Amino acid sequence: MATNNASPELLIVMGTAATADQTEHVVARLREAGADARVSRGREATVIGAIGERELLAGMPLEGYPGVERVLPILKPYKLVARELAPDPTVIEVDGRRIGDTSFGLIAGPCTVEYREQTLETARAVAAAGATMLRGGAFKPRTSPYTFQGLGLDALDVLREAREETGLPIVTELLDPRHVEEVLEVADVVQIGARNMQNFLLLAEVGRIDKPVLLKRGPSASVEELLMAAEYVAKEGNERIILCERGIKTFEQSLRYTLDLGSVAVLKEETHLPVIVDPSHAAGRRALVLPLARAAVAVGADGIIVEAHPRPEEALCDGPQQLPTDEFAEFAREVGGLVALMGKQIG
Ligand code: PEP
Ligand code: MN
Repeated sequence: MATNNASPELLIVMGTAATADQTEHVVARLREAGADARVSRGREATVIGAIGERELLAGMPLEGYPGVERVLPILKPYKLVARELAPDPTVIEVDGRRIGDTSFGLIAGPCTVEYREQTLETARAVAAAGATMLRGGAFKPRTSPYTFQGLGLDALDVLREAREETGLPIVTELLDPRHVEEVLEVADVVQIGARNMQNFLLLAEVGRIDKPVLLKRGPSASVEELLMAAEYVAKEGNERIILCERGIKTFEQSLRYTLDLGSVAVLKEETHLPVIVDPSHAAGRRALVLPLARAAVAVGADGIIVEAHPRPEEALCDGPQQLPTDEFAEFAREVGGLVALMGKQIG
């Protein structure tokens, strides 16, 4: 239990009509539960400062006690991922490729593994252009159940071959906890897609694995919700987490999603974890991918994850936003120039 001169974790504001007995009741419940309480009586309202273990206080139904008007948390609801816990930036390293601090990750590859040659061609092109990891979906979370859902387990074999040939570590999405073993055999970084950001059982599952997790922000999730999702992973023991801003839903329809670059700056303040940006899914069309990637570098992102395809017009998923592989080297060169200006290096 915290000592008496510790600052409170929660402020419990009693309503103006609350009786002294009601205040005493709250104080008694807190003390019974092993927390401490300090009462300040103002002219208008009485406020109780509660001091104790965060989990204990979070588990108490304080809002429901008679006379309580509001409960205000003083501390951030996340702790393991909070910058206060680790003032130095976390660097995620996979096979010598680093993301975080002064290392910028350039993750590139097809949206989806469609067939062997498409993925291998892409892998070769992005590797030659200096990408640090290969992305590629085996299990695709599609909005429509009638569209291509990915090759599943067969795609994992293709990704394995791409790694063997290019040496690039593999980033691929885990959609279903039942595939965790197979995905882990191939993935070097396990992606949790935007639609699963709050799939808490899946988060706990990847919290128990021994590989880094790339956690994408849900299109309707706040920054705090993203950090709480990361906290679920960290709480299970896996603190190797890369956060990813990939655009959110707003009233604006001119991009596929609104890329919330401000959130990257906020995340860099709030957490020690590396933060990357996915300009492809936010843009929805390839002409916007480079400008958004540039902005991501400038705002301080620790990397980008970009889609590329040898023949985007034939792609089974996200064709309009995939960069043709024969333009990828130029893209990487432009991004690399800005990365250097920021005092960082790719890789
Ligand atoms: C992806 O990166 O393949 C993907 C499906 O992205 P998101 O989860 O951000 O929609
Ligand atoms: Mn895609």
